[in-house]
Amino acid sequence: MAKETDRCSFCGRIKAETNVLIAGLEGHICDLCVEQAQAIIREEMSSSHEVRLGDIKLLKPAEIKKYLDQYVIGQEEAKRVLSVAVYNHYKRITQPPSKEGEEEIEIEKSNIVIVGETGTGKTLLARTIARMLHVPFCIADATVLTEAGYVGEDVESILSRLLQAADYNVAAAEKGIIFIDEIDKIARKSDNPSITRDVSGEGVQQALLKLLEGADVNVPPQGGRKHPEQKMIQVNTHDILFIAGGAFNAIDKIIGSRLQTNMIGYNFDKEKEQIDKENILQYIAPGDMKDFGLIPEIVGRLPVLSYLNPLDEEALRRILTEPKNSLIKQFTKLFAMDKINLSFDEEALNYMVEKSIEYKLGARGLRSILEAILTDAMFDLPSNGDTSDLRVTLEYAQSKFKKSNVARLKVA
Ligand code: ADP
Repeated sequence: MAKETDRCSFCGRIKAETNVLIAGLEGHICDLCVEQAQAIIREEMSSSHEVRLGDIKLLKPAEIKKYLDQYVIGQEEAKRVLSVAVYNHYKRITQPPSKEGEEEIEIEKSNIVIVGETGTGKTLLARTIARMLHVPFCIADATVLTEAGYVGEDVESILSRLLQAADYNVAAAEKGIIFIDEIDKIARKSDNPSITRDVSGEGVQQALLKLLEGADVNVPPQGGRKHPEQKMIQVNTHDILFIAGGAFNAIDKIIGSRLQTNMIGYNFDKEKEQIDKENILQYIAPGDMKDFGLIPEIVGRLPVLSYLNPLDEEALRRILTEPKNSLIKQFTKLFAMDKINLSFDEEALNYMVEKSIEYKLGARGLRSILEAILTDAMFDLPSNGDTSDLRVTLEYAQSKFKKSNVARLKVA
């Protein structure tokens, strides 16, 4: 503790002139100087943010994939494709301007579309990439978008969200990543677009196209509809990376019939190319998305196409424990905060995976199942001072799960 005669080593005030004087190893600091120092730090950080965005530390594709491996289980093909696309994108936006006399080659943007069942890691992949790059990231749900003037959200609202994620730093937002979820839901509903107005289909695709291509867009900072009194912020989308995701239900039929036709047309050599009927998505091609109902211009603006595999038992088991912030690690940490040592028997973990498959809950369901099993313990143990270990055995997991709400969720 500081003595009455001690002075702040920064401003020279004596203890009586301050509210608090903090003693350090060699000197002292007063509350006023702490406040001032904090303001300086804030200012420095925000300007250095700009600088860092100017030279985003660009990892090589193999390093990007290694980073993704820590968080996303399996999905090798998608991780490779995404690593290259992200590498190229940020190489493109960080390239120095071409010198005098040098031929100007404009590298086009490589927006990405990932096709895969819900809960297989589309959002997780996009979010992990944004975290790695320290760029602003937001998720936009394509299902709520409608053409301007109709009930729903304008396409520009996506950019409001990115601006918010970037703390209204426009330069940072302009280098961010937008994940557009459920892009398949804005597919054209019928083959003949003129029969009825399709306000959440083709019109939205046209509006979205503008963002994907790169344009100066006036964005209402607080989101919502544009109205005359609101001051707009201009955002250029030229360097924003768009990652779209969708389940594209029943697209396997389109892919299947295309493969079938090819086989007949080109006298397919059956021995050479065996089609894996269990996982038809891996053969997806841009044309299939057109047949599904995306307009050709949108498909053209999402040139990088990849797919995710359905998660099997082994993948779900790995998801429980392996990722850097796996569910088991998260819950273990939560319990450790109450000084409770949480552990799981192998059979209990396998049981959770079995239930998730049986109830068709996928990876998302693992969390609900784990919550269901641990709720009683999380309620009781913190006030039960002397309990310091909780071992989740198969019997414990079974008994807690059976009496939970999740157990009633079974899909027929
Ligand atoms: P979607 O494909 O519907 O976007 P998400 O990425 O939101 O699915 O996945 C839902 C949750 O499931 C994630 O938060 C994550 O915890 C888990 N998950 C899904 N797929 C994987 C995976 N391949 N590796 C690790 N966790 C996964």
